[in-house]
Amino acid sequence: MSERTIALVTGANKGIGHEIAAGLGALGWSIGVGARDDRRRADAVERLRAAGIDAFGVPLDVTDDASAAAAARLVEDRAGGLDVLVNNAAVAGEMPQQPTGVDPATVRAVVETNVIGVIRVTNAMLPLLRRSASPRIVNMSSSVGSLARQSGPDPDRTAGPVAVAYAPSKTFLNAVTLQYTRELSGTNILINACCPGYVATDLNGFRGVRTPAQGAAIAVRLATLPDDGPTGRFFDDAGIVPW
Ligand code: NAP
Repeated sequence: MSERTIALVTGANKGIGHEIAAGLGALGWSIGVGARDDRRRADAVERLRAAGIDAFGVPLDVTDDASAAAAARLVEDRAGGLDVLVNNAAVAGEMPQQPTGVDPATVRAVVETNVIGVIRVTNAMLPLLRRSASPRIVNMSSSVGSLARQSGPDPDRTAGPVAVAYAPSKTFLNAVTLQYTRELSGTNILINACCPGYVATDLNGFRGVRTPAQGAAIAVRLATLPDDGPTGRFFDDAGIVPW
């Protein structure tokens, strides 16, 4: 494995993922830019390289088994291993998503990307991560998936709008994060989930109030945890988010 720390960020062509790639790249790390669209991926790699970052493109559609397997082979061939995986790619799905009127196909599509996509990519990358001295997995979740907040006193203020595909997909992802943590306890892999806050990106029609760089900061922090850092937790910039 190379001396340089190697990270793969999924959905790194724009939004928060692009800023996570920039933030980790600024540390001198080698960054795999996971993105499904050839043009958008090439543009993102070019922007990062122009900023002095050792970025390389990784064709990756997280909904596709063969794509995830090919991405793992590419990272192995290009970088010789992997230390950090940031599962950032996600979709919001067709809105509105009132539970009583939602198209089941919308729920299925969102879960396929936001949950099964994370499992698929994580499992494809695990053989590489297991060889790292300090492997980290960061799952980009959202506080809208927090069951504690949704069942708390003021969910409309603390848990976002009613959206029966997107919000539960993040609840599911949080539960998946804990399942991985339990199975991999006793290994050196630290696995955490995070919420970037409400960030102005394509995902929400740029209605968010934070910048993508602000949203990326918590993922960068979890990607760079020391070996005795936490695992199996859900964080935002303010600290621990209740599951
Ligand atoms: P975004 O700008 O829409 O970016 C989403 C990224 O995911 C894009 O690069 C997109 O690629 C990629 N993606 C979607 N489906 C994919 C697939 N099948 N395969 C590979 N890549 C795929 O949204 P964002 O706000 O930066 O979201 C990043 C993460 O933060 C997501 O997990 C989101 O749920 C989370 N989050 C965001 C907010 C917020 O306020 N923005 C709040 C809480 C959590 P394409 O360009 O090809 O579509």
